[in-house]
Amino acid sequence: MKSFKRLRKWLPVYSQEKDNSYLEAGGTKMAEGIKELKLDGVDAVVDANIKDCLGSGYCNIGCAYGKKLSALDNILPRAQRDFPGAVRIFSECLAEKVEARNGRATGVICRLSDGRSLRVAAKTVIVSGGALASSLLLQRSGLGGNLAGTGLSFNVGAPLTADFEEKLNSFDGLQITHSYRPAGEDQLILESWFNPVGTQALLMPGWFSDHFHNMRRYAHLSCIGVVVGSQANGRIRPGVPGTRHEARLRADGGRPAPAAEGNEARRPDPLRQRRPAGDADDLPIALLHLAGSGRRAR
Ligand SMILES: Cc1cc2nc3c(=O)[nH]c(=O)nc-3n(C[C@H](O)[C@H](O)[C@H](O)COP(=O)(O)OP(=O)(O)OC[C@H]3O[C@@H](n4cnc5c(N)ncnc54)[C@H](O)[C@@H]3O)c2cc1C
Ligand code: SF4
Repeated sequence: MKSFKRLRKWLPVYSQEKDNSYLEAGGTKMAEGIKELKLDGVDAVVDANIKDCLGSGYCNIGCAYGKKLSALDNILPRAQRDFPGAVRIFSECLAEKVEARNGRATGVICRLSDGRSLRVAAKTVIVSGGALASSLLLQRSGLGGNLAGTGLSFNVGAPLTADFEEKLNSFDGLQITHSYRPAGEDQLILESWFNPVGTQALLMPGWFSDHFHNMRRYAHLSCIGVVVGSQANGRIRPGVPGTRHEARLRADGGRPAPAAEGNEARRPDPLRQRRPAGDADDLPIALLHLAGSGRRAR
C-alpha cells in the first residue's frame, strides 16, 4: 500500500472530481442513480493520471493533447530531464530477443524501422511490452520456462447503454468519470463510459434500422461498463513467424472469477432490477474488452 501511494504521487495521479471541469454527463446520471437506489457499495469520481483535461473524450485511443500523463508524454521526458545524458530513446525499435548468459540477461537484440539491427548491452533488462508482447518476447528469448505466456487474465466488459430523454452529449468530456463497486465485491466494477461517434457506432446495440435509430439518439445516450475480472487461465504462444498467425491466444475469459460468480448467484445486481434515475430506456449489448495482465516470469 505504501508503494502504491508513492507511485500515485510519482506518476502523478489527480482527483478528477477536483481538477477536471469536463466530466462526462452520463457519469453524473450514474451517480444520481446510485444515490436514488440507495446502493450500499462504493461510488466515486475516478482518480487518474490526467491533468488540465480539455474534455475531448478520446482518452481510450490516446490523448492527442498531452493531458493524459502517459509514459510517452510524462515519464520518458522526465527521465531525460532528471538524468541528463543517461537516457537514450529509440523510437520505432523492436526488441527481438533478450540475450542471457548463466541465467542473467546480458543485452537486447533490436530491429530499427529502417531494417538495421542493434544490440544493447545491459546488466539489467526490464521487459515491459505489455502482457501479450512481453510473454512472446520472453518465449522468443527462451526465458521464463513454462511460466512465460501463462496465467493471463482479462477484463470482460458488458456495457449497458441507456437512452435519456434529455440530451447529455456524453461524448463531450472525460471518457470514464464515475465508478461503482458493489459492497463485498473485489472482482466486479461498474464505470460510466462513452465514446467518440465512430467507436460508439461499433458498440451500438441493434442491427440495420435499429442501429440507425439508436445512432440518431447518440446525443441522448450514456453507457455503464460492467467490468468483471476473468480467471487467470489465459495462455499465449508464438505462432508461425512471418505469417499472419504470429501469436495464438487462448483465454477462457468469459467465465467470471469465483468471487463475482458467487455474488451473482446470491444477490443479483440491483441496477438490473430497478430503473435508474432520469427515466432511461435500457438497450442490451455485450462486449469483450480485453485489457490483459500476465504472470511475469523472471
Ligand atoms: C482500449 C483500452 C482501454 C483501456 N482503458 C483502461 C482504463 O480506463 N484504465 C486502466 O487502468 N486501464 C485501461 N486499459 C488497460 C491499460 O491500458 C493497460 O493495462 C496498460 O496500458 C498496460 O501498461 P504496460 O506498460 O504494461 O503496457 P502497454 O501500455 O501496452 O505498453 C507496452 C509498450 O511496449 C511496446 N512493445 C511491445 N512489444 C515490443 C517489442 N518487442 N519491442 C519494443 N516495444 C514493444 C508497445 O508498442 C507499447 O508501447 C485499457 C486498455 C485498452 C486496450
Ligand atoms: S478527455 Fe481524455 S483525450 Fe480529451 S483532453 Fe482529456 S484526457 Fe485527453
